[in-house]
Amino acid sequence: METVEADVAVVGGGTGGCFAAASAAREGLDAVLLERKPRDEGGRIACGDALKGRSSLPDVIDLDRLADESFTNTTVRRGLFVSEDDSVEIPFPETGKVMDRKRYGEVILEEAERAGATVVYDTLVNGVLQEDGRVVGVRGVRNGETVKYRASVTVDAAGALSVLQDHADLSDASFDTDVRPTQFCAAYREIVEVPQPVDWDDALVFKPADELGYVWYFPRTPTEINVGVGYQMTEKPMELADVLARDMVERDEFVGAEVIDRRGAALPTRRPYDSAVAPGYVAVGDAAGHVNPTTGGGIPGAAKAGAWAGEVAADAVADGEVSEDTLWEYNERVMDGFGAKFAATDLYNIFGTAHDVDELTSLVGAVPGQQLVDALGDGSVSTSPFLLAKTVLRAFGHWGLLRELYGVHKKTEEIRDVYADYPSSPDGLAGWRDERDAVLDEVYEITGATPKY
Ligand SMILES: Cc1cc2nc3c(=O)[nH]c(=O)nc-3n(C[C@H](O)[C@H](O)[C@H](O)COP(=O)(O)OP(=O)(O)OC[C@H]3O[C@@H](n4cnc5c(N)ncnc54)[C@H](O)[C@@H]3O)c2cc1C
Repeated sequence: METVEADVAVVGGGTGGCFAAASAAREGLDAVLLERKPRDEGGRIACGDALKGRSSLPDVIDLDRLADESFTNTTVRRGLFVSEDDSVEIPFPETGKVMDRKRYGEVILEEAERAGATVVYDTLVNGVLQEDGRVVGVRGVRNGETVKYRASVTVDAAGALSVLQDHADLSDASFDTDVRPTQFCAAYREIVEVPQPVDWDDALVFKPADELGYVWYFPRTPTEINVGVGYQMTEKPMELADVLARDMVERDEFVGAEVIDRRGAALPTRRPYDSAVAPGYVAVGDAAGHVNPTTGGGIPGAAKAGAWAGEVAADAVADGEVSEDTLWEYNERVMDGFGAKFAATDLYNIFGTAHDVDELTSLVGAVPGQQLVDALGDGSVSTSPFLLAKTVLRAFGHWGLLRELYGVHKKTEEIRDVYADYPSSPDGLAGWRDERDAVLDEVYEITGATPKY
């Protein structure tokens, strides 16, 4: 059996894996990236294709090239939230982008190679090598042959519900193993060519769907629309393609439209893993819950986590020590970078699971759009007594729900404080978790939601 030696073995050629491999290679490591798809399928991934912009991605690849070659719509200035009888428009502080996701995926794979990493396609990883509790690489199948990849650090970038975490025994590590399907969202999207340009190509359009999900219309170009729908897997399964078809039938723009691609996947809509490291092992992106739990946006989290994993792996390899303690800095960077924010946002998701879509949309209808933006925009609560009084009057009949939402807002502030004190070593994890879980218990009490964790 062939054995390949490397400093870092990265599993998965999506955003997390490409940014990890590029970053590790730039740090001077011998990095190998293993992707199960063939080269011509590389980069094809189910996605809504929307991104804030290149500023949300770390600078370890050529971001100008990425933007030039894959960002097809660079004029997204507003979010349009539509329900059956109302709509709320929210201007974006920064112009958003929609992209050709396949080209984006190809460019980041090419950029990982250009940074010096070796990208190996057609390789399905189906085993994790472990010695004395430490991960020392992976086993994969290529062209029917089993190949072992031995590495000082293995980066798990294999996406949502990563199989590596099924194969590895991480029970003695701090690695977060409290991962359940109900913490995920099932999503499906189509790329649709419409006969005439839409007049909302400067907008991301969202519409609430049953089962705590939403239908989206994201224009890649005025005539090429990414249309999708997702639902939280705590809820009753949804026939995603049917729901989407029913919604499109009601829109005149889609008469005579042609579907050019279809794809679905699961994505984590949960807080980031409490710890995503084990000896010799780091998980990034969807494999570590690095997705904004309310929007489903996971590209920036995966890219940043990948870049940090590469840097921390380089330090660990240079020190000749890949223990949890050495890799722990990666967890700290994640929690500081976006983990605290996502964990706070997750509380709104928990609030949502305790109510049906009619209750939530009637609240949106009752509260003026701008006030909802003020209240929810940056996770802080509007403190203006005038605004608050006006909101309460307008929301007559929804006071119970508003009081609950306000209670959840207050808990988001508390949870951010707890995450600001994320421990500096694995020793502090248990005590920190107790503090965080106490806040979560209060959230379950306020909302009546079934515990998510
Ligand atoms: C329908 C949908 C819409 C979305 N819309 C948006 C959006 O608009 N904006 C946004 O920012 N985010 C969006 N997301 C989330 C975003 O796509 C993900 O968070 C992001 O792609 C995660 O990147 P990743 O590298 O962690 O995983 P992935 O992109 O899933 O990459 C994982 C890679 O690992 C490979 N792999 C898996 N298992 C193995 C194995 N055993 N061996 C070898 N290779 C393996 C896969 O083939 C894949 O290439 C959406 C997700 C879905 C499902």
